[in-house]
This record gives sequence, structure tokens and C-alpha cells, in this order.
Amino acid sequence: MSDKQVFSPGVKKYMEDAKKIYAQREARVVRMKKFKFDTIAVHGLYSIEEALNKNQGATIEPLYLATSQAYHDSDELEAALDYLIPAWTYTRYANPTTYYLEWTLALLESYRTGVDASCVATASGISAIASAVDPFLVKQKKGEEQINFVSSIQIYGGSFQNFSVRKMQERGIEVRWVLHPEDIEEWKTKIDENTRFLYAEAPSNPQQSFCDVKTIADLAHMWEIPLIIDTTCATPALMRPLAYGADIVVHSLTKSMTSGGLAIGGAMISRKPITTKVKNDSPLFKESFAEYVKHLPYRDNGPAASPVNALFTLNDMRTLRSKMDLLSQNCQKVSEFLSHHPRVYQVDYLGLQSSCLHKLAKKYMKLVDSDDGNGNEINRYGHLMSFRVDGPPENARKVFDNLKLIFRATDLGRIKSLATIPAISTHKQQGKEARRMADIPPQMIRLCVGGENPDDIIEDLDQALRSL
Ligand SMILES: *Cc1c(COP(=O)(O)O)cnc(C)c1O
Repeated sequence: MSDKQVFSPGVKKYMEDAKKIYAQREARVVRMKKFKFDTIAVHGLYSIEEALNKNQGATIEPLYLATSQAYHDSDELEAALDYLIPAWTYTRYANPTTYYLEWTLALLESYRTGVDASCVATASGISAIASAVDPFLVKQKKGEEQINFVSSIQIYGGSFQNFSVRKMQERGIEVRWVLHPEDIEEWKTKIDENTRFLYAEAPSNPQQSFCDVKTIADLAHMWEIPLIIDTTCATPALMRPLAYGADIVVHSLTKSMTSGGLAIGGAMISRKPITTKVKNDSPLFKESFAEYVKHLPYRDNGPAASPVNALFTLNDMRTLRSKMDLLSQNCQKVSEFLSHHPRVYQVDYLGLQSSCLHKLAKKYMKLVDSDDGNGNEINRYGHLMSFRVDGPPENARKVFDNLKLIFRATDLGRIKSLATIPAISTHKQQGKEARRMADIPPQMIRLCVGGENPDDIIEDLDQALRSL
């Protein structure tokens, strides 16, 4: 952003015109906020007026593949590049199709939370995580003591790699792992004045760990630092951490948010404002963190979302709530079957009463806009679970190799059921010791239950387990 405050009359005219566009956008946001979750997911900010006046009546958000925007004259160019008017300029910075995705996500994640949010969409979940954490990991002054952040160890394997190798090994930033994220006392012992943020994942992939989001957010705020949380496996249809004080939410849009399996993407959504003691020249840093990231580090580092993927994502997200309802119910049924199977010695699914984290998850994971008949929302726990096969690791491999309907793939969050063995795939690179600490034995099969009839999934699992 430019530091000059004097604008030419030509630029000023464009700024004046922009006020109307900002006001229309604001009115649209206010109007959409009155609607229910499903309505927001279906329409986002794309209105009838917008379709008729700007987009030839197209009922679906148009796909803008052009890499850059053209301007009427030099004044508009200057105003646009100075972020003084609504403009998308260049797809590495912004794009009209991605814009619709970002607004839909901001509205869904902040739905009935009582807070406003902004969002930046990225090329992948991992780039969303990197974009969220990096701005807090800058040295504030020369000779500063070593900075650190505190993270649950029960996180996605790629996030673990990003933290332990890219941050700790390469940049010397200390990562303090919390082994039992449900235990607030452990978080407390790890924080000091050089801690920049707290990081958690709930429910976690693949162990189904969970944490008390509100308590951890309160703890973070006592230290004047933000809580960053990955709720990829829950999606805003089942949990919206902003409601409990979380500052920043990250998602892999590649997973349950889309479930279609055609697009890779990520998103970071931040509350306005976030809690942080990190100093930054831009007021947006605190006031609208996702916008700050979009304007500056995102532009400079280049993790931009592809507009094609943004459109796939938008289209898949329209049925998010009903899809998460169906998939969660299927997963519940499959997990109950497995929990009674003689060849299975442990099933981890937050929806099972036997899970020691069931009570905690029950407080947080609820199908948005549902009603159990008594005015309470219905609990739903998503479609990721894991189970452990009796005997040596070869047994788990045998069961895995005998699956005939369920795909063997490292993916998750799909409309098709998928399984993997984390110890030899997603969590292989973190090594044996870290896997032991994160409780990922080689007997564990991670299963993501899809939209097939659950009886057919059960039948496939049963025949595979019978191969032992
Ligand atoms: C897959 C995943 C990620 C990373 O997302 P990509 O889109 O694959 O980069 C982050 N967090 C969780 C919980 C995931 O499952």
C-alpha cells in the first residue's frame, strides 16, 4: 500500500464512485446475514441483480479465467493498485470468481457467531495454514529471545511437517508440542511471553482428538495471543470456532468442504479483530487479518487459489449442511458396527459413547440449523474415523488390501468411502517416535465414510475383516 495521502482529482473521482460499490456490497452482506446457513451456502454474495446487470443473467457465478484486469485510464489503474477501489487487478492477488468463494466462506464460518469475519482462499489447505501462521513468526526486534508457538501434536501429517521441518529445523522457531490437547493444564505449561500463537486441530486427522476450544481461546487471550484452529474435518456445518473465541480458522477445502474430489484448495478465515501482540505497520493486521494477508504476504508469496478450483468448491459447498448430516450418520453406523467387531481392538470416532472425548465433542459438534424437537441442535460428528485391527501390522494391511468397495487412498472428506493406513502414508514422514507420541500405530486404518448406503460399506469391511 502506498504511504502517500494526496490523491489526484482523477483518482479521487474513482474513490468517490467506489463508495457506492462498497455500500452495495455491505448491504448485500447485511442482507445475506439474515438468511439461514443453507441459503448462504447456495447463494453467497451472488445476487439476481448481479447476474442480470453484470453477467448476462448467468445463474451460477461466472468463471473468470483472465489473469488480469484492464482499466479505463491511468487514474483507475493507480487507484486499483493502491487498493483504493474494489478491483481484482491480477489473479495472484484477487479474482472475481475467488471473491465469491471467499465471501461465502466468511459468511458460513461466522454464521450466528456474533462476530464478523474476513477470508482469503488459497491454493491448498497447507498454504492456508502457512499463510495463517507465518505473519506471527517475524522477529520484532534485534536480539529478541527465541520465539515459539504451541501446537497440538495431533494434527494433519502435512501440518506437522510444515511446523517441525519448515519452521523448527529450517528457521529455528521453537514448536512446543502438546501431547494431550484436551488437557488445558498441558497447554498452560507450554506458554510463555515469547509464544506467538496457539494451534490446534479439532477433530484431528486421523486420531479424532479434540480440544476444549473455548478454554484454549480464553487461555490464548490471557497471553494476548491468537488461537488458530484447523476444523477441516468438522466444516462450518458442524462447528464454528469463532463462536467460542478462536481468532483464525483454517480449512483444507480439498476435503469435506467440497467432497467432490475435483479441486484442491484452502481457506483462512479470521475474526475482526484478532488478538495479537505482534506489531505490524498495517492496521488491517489486527482489524481484519485475512484481508491483511491477502493484500500483502499472499500477494508477495503467491499461494493464490485457482479460479477453476474456486468455482468447483463453491458449487460443491452449496449442499454442505445436508451432506455433512448424511455422511456423519453413515459414519456413526459404520463406527458402531466396527466397535462390536471381534477383529477390531479399538475404534476412534467422536460420535461413539465409548470415546473418552465424546462428552467434550458433544458440546461443540452440532449440525447447524437442526432441531431435535426440544429446541436443541442435533449432534453430528463428521465422517472421519479410525479403527485398529487385532494382531501384528500385517493384519491391518491384509484387511486394507481386501477392501473391494472402499478405495485405498490418502484422501479424505469424500463422497466416496476411502481408507488409508496413516503409519505408512500420511504420517510416515514424521517418523516412528513422533507417531508414537501422536498415537498412530501401524495397526490403525483411517476410514472416511462416504455417501454410499452404509450397509454396503459395512458389508465391505466385514468381508475384508473375515480375510484374517
Ligand atoms: C488435508 C488436510 C490439510 C491439508 O490440506 P491440503 O488441501 O491437502 O493442502 C490440512 N488439515 C487437515 C486436517 C487435512 O486433513
